[in-house]
Amino acid sequence: MCKMEAPASFTEGEVYQMDFNPGVYLETYYSLGASHCKGNKILTLNLRSLCEMFAFSDVKGDTLIDIGSGPTIYQLLSACEKFNEIIVSDYADRNRQELEKWLKKEPGAFDWTPVVKYVCELEGQREKWAEKEEKLRKKVKQVLKCDVRKPNPLAPVTLPAADCLLSTLCLEAACKDLGTFRAALKNISSLVKPGGHLVMVTVLKETYYVVDQHSFSCLYLDQESVEEAIKDAGFDIKFIKEIQEHSPNTFSDFGALLHVVACKRGPKPAQ
Ligand code: SAH
Repeated sequence: MCKMEAPASFTEGEVYQMDFNPGVYLETYYSLGASHCKGNKILTLNLRSLCEMFAFSDVKGDTLIDIGSGPTIYQLLSACEKFNEIIVSDYADRNRQELEKWLKKEPGAFDWTPVVKYVCELEGQREKWAEKEEKLRKKVKQVLKCDVRKPNPLAPVTLPAADCLLSTLCLEAACKDLGTFRAALKNISSLVKPGGHLVMVTVLKETYYVVDQHSFSCLYLDQESVEEAIKDAGFDIKFIKEIQEHSPNTFSDFGALLHVVACKRGPKPAQ
């Protein structure tokens, strides 16, 4: 196989709308346990960390908004134990359709069972995987279009400020430079209450990844720039962990993972 490299120009939302194949993305990166699954290591590291971050006692509340969900639900499996209502969102129509397929148990929906079982095992609830799937399906109330480059990323929909914002592997794919990344963090910050949380998973030191012969670009980030951008968007950082995980391969030039929990500054709204 020839080595693919970063595309000549940055692949923003419009390219995802045209060329991102959700089925192939899921098969490639989220078939836990399958030998062809390129993302097994990254996936299990992220699941472990999400489990740890959503176990923080004050990361809880009524509503959680997931930004740039793509076609995936793994990021919601620990979250759904701590929030009553979940809103998922993505820029690309086909990703939102893929999510709807799973939520409605339609034929051809991706099989998340191995991932759900893995998380239940981490949470010490081995037998409860079918219940967790059902719980999550019930809690996801809306699947919305979103664009992190807009001041209200969910426009034309306006939502009451949420208790928690979650975003996994989205901003570095959606933002062509650090200025756009910093602005996008400020845009999504408007969706969460003061005192509410941001839980973020970001890949560091990557410039591209491949899905189905298409190479998608990734904003090359380091921990310091992400930390500064989060603080500048109005959050105090509560937890930050960088995991070096460099394995040379031909599907991405991935360097490390960054896991963050932050709390939005400002007076808490009256209960
Ligand atoms: N959260 C998923 C998907 C990450 S892939 C996961 O953890 O695997 C990156 C996602 O960002 C894609 O689903 C893509 O459609 C979305 N995206 C790209 N540009 C965007 C934008 N401007 N606003 C919101 N989402 C965007």
